[in-house]
Amino acid sequence: MFSEFAAAHAHGMAILADCARLVRLHGISELAAQSGLPESTIRAQAAAHKQLGAHAALATGIPVDNLILVSRWSKKVLPDDIPILLQAVHGASYAEAEDHLRAAVRELTKGSRQRPPRGTVAVAKRADFWNRRRITFYLSDAEYAQLRADSQAFVDEARKKDETLTHGQALHQWLTRKLTTPGQQSEHSYKPVLLMPVDSSLAWDRGHLVTADGARVNPLELLEAQLEDTGWALQTALDDDGVAHAITVARIQNTRNSTGEHRMIAALETLVCAWPGCHRVAAECQAHHIQAFREGGETSWDNVTPLCAVHNGMNDDVPERVANGRIVRGNGGYPGRQRRPGDPVRYSANDLLTSGWRGLTYDYYAATR
Ligand SMILES: [Zn+2]
Repeated sequence: MFSEFAAAHAHGMAILADCARLVRLHGISELAAQSGLPESTIRAQAAAHKQLGAHAALATGIPVDNLILVSRWSKKVLPDDIPILLQAVHGASYAEAEDHLRAAVRELTKGSRQRPPRGTVAVAKRADFWNRRRITFYLSDAEYAQLRADSQAFVDEARKKDETLTHGQALHQWLTRKLTTPGQQSEHSYKPVLLMPVDSSLAWDRGHLVTADGARVNPLELLEAQLEDTGWALQTALDDDGVAHAITVARIQNTRNSTGEHRMIAALETLVCAWPGCHRVAAECQAHHIQAFREGGETSWDNVTPLCAVHNGMNDDVPERVANGRIVRGNGGYPGRQRRPGDPVRYSANDLLTSGWRGLTYDYYAATR
């Protein structure tokens, strides 16, 4: 039984070719009626065959769902670059494939980076059974983070009152209220982190800034005075082995509600759940102890990494008891998943992983060499 199930995924290109042949023979609606597959699925498979048919040899072993993903992403690159996309998803699970494709397309279109297409609000043509219309629109990552922060108190309160409420349902209530209450102006604000890669021999408390009138100012004082309540300053550096570390963090925010600086540094290190294939942003993650707390693991930035609730639960906290694998620190100090002790470490291919302070520090040092 399992082999039949797996076989359905093994020869992706053969399935696509078969689908394209049957579409030519019967047409899409007839094939949909005969096979019981939705027309949209058949259309996607036929399109993928048209797009990728010339590269059948390279597509060997890639499951059909991943081929459909490749065909979607291939519209963003030149036809000559399609083999690169196929190589990018080789051996990748469905969850990982889209990350690999995004990274590959970004690499291929570097320099010609266009502005994102203009956002548009899509409103359902018809109201549903309860006379509601589904409305979809886009927010940038930063705008979503702002919305999340603004709605957090309401969402927490609503979910405390009604435990059956999901986060999405509570957020729906908040959004509806926001959008339908007139005259509410919300201020746009950011909480920046000032990232300061420095020479590792330079101690923070000996550092100083010189102002235009010749005064020497301790950077901590300056930050506290000028940037109070806005965020944090984070000083990072490479150690003797060339691995990035967080050296000092200065609080320039009212941290009454802070969950702790080490947790904040961990969240800003990877910006995303460290489990490969997961897309939960760090703000929605838990602080996972790489060496378990009860095994003596410290709550320090280098022993803490963001994991979503699901993957925090799946992680093998006792290394010897192998089930799902566990998060360890691997190349360049990046957290990644190791299936069994001694196995290679696999990293999230989500490009947020290298957009945090660790990746920025490496970029900075690479640029100054
Ligand atoms: Zn996760």
